[in-house]
Amino acid sequence: MSTTPLYHVYEYNDVDREFWAEHLEDWLPRRLVDTHVHCVDPAAEIETVTEEQKRKYWVMETYTSIDVRDTERIARILYPGRDVCYLGFPFAHLGWDTLANNDYVRREGLKRNWPSLAVIDPRWVPEQVEHALKQPGCVGVKPYYSMIRYNRFLTAGFQEAGIFDFLPHGHLEVLDQHAAWVTLHVPKADRLGHADNIREIKEIRRRYPNVKLVIAHLGRCYTKPHAEEGILPLSDDDGLYWDCGAVLNPDTYRIALTHLGPERVMWGTDNPIFCMRGRRQWHGRTYVNRTNYAFFFNKEREAPEIEAAYTLYTYEELKTIKDVFIELGLSDAQKELFFHGTANRLFTGVLKRKGESWPLTPYAKG
Ligand SMILES: [Zn+2]
Repeated sequence: MSTTPLYHVYEYNDVDREFWAEHLEDWLPRRLVDTHVHCVDPAAEIETVTEEQKRKYWVMETYTSIDVRDTERIARILYPGRDVCYLGFPFAHLGWDTLANNDYVRREGLKRNWPSLAVIDPRWVPEQVEHALKQPGCVGVKPYYSMIRYNRFLTAGFQEAGIFDFLPHGHLEVLDQHAAWVTLHVPKADRLGHADNIREIKEIRRRYPNVKLVIAHLGRCYTKPHAEEGILPLSDDDGLYWDCGAVLNPDTYRIALTHLGPERVMWGTDNPIFCMRGRRQWHGRTYVNRTNYAFFFNKEREAPEIEAAYTLYTYEELKTIKDVFIELGLSDAQKELFFHGTANRLFTGVLKRKGESWPLTPYAKG
């Protein structure tokens, strides 16, 4: 078996090559825009993640610092022959130098025609948000509840925050003036369907209608009940957008693609995290990530022959999307919108208003 190292503990092997050839090569569009990709400047890492942190919060052991160069290299391996554009943004956590990371991702993105989002800190004055938005290549922001106050375990303690606690009205006013993109990772253990989230998202749409609001991870609706509770109450708002980063559940895709339509949902992976190999299984309102690496969280392993057949989560996601597109009889035109058309249209709108062009190539030498 020939294997190519990807990064961290991840690799690309013959199972993946065969999976790509069998399921994805002939189906995926030539052009792909991944609207949910994290990358960082390793030099901007202030806090070294400890074993205690990894044991306590599983996501912390699934990635390490990944720079833009590696992100691009992995894209070439994962999507051979494809024209790939990433909407990149740093990891949002106060264990990083946020300003340094934002600037790094933005500058490196410009060289590759990748637009970027700036991670914002809710304590910033609105002028700081405006400053970030004015930088070439920046199309918007990524607020996150872990930015409310430093916490070693990333999200612990702040998951029950309200959206305006980490995306304050002063910031939203500036974002509305600039008609900027906002990738919103919703709070609450109950996920998108929590009454506060539904109410606050409707309030943002009513008060700040120019903001291009994108609900990340389909509202963290990783199971069918969560998708019904969260997606359906917001499905009649044609101006609300969604990314499907880290979503593997076919039921969630059925609900999203039926009730929102492929025109308002945009492809996203949450990479580098979806370089993990394995599969996800669902039980009611919970799920379990099956994977072949001996992470601390990975207690219930499957049989070796099953693990040997695992492919990347990224590929599992793409195959699920393909299956649901085919099942629902969606057209090639709708597929193009889902994988790049809608994102391209939104990028064009934001950048035109800033006096920049899309593609970003004129700035590539800067
Ligand atoms: Zn993410």
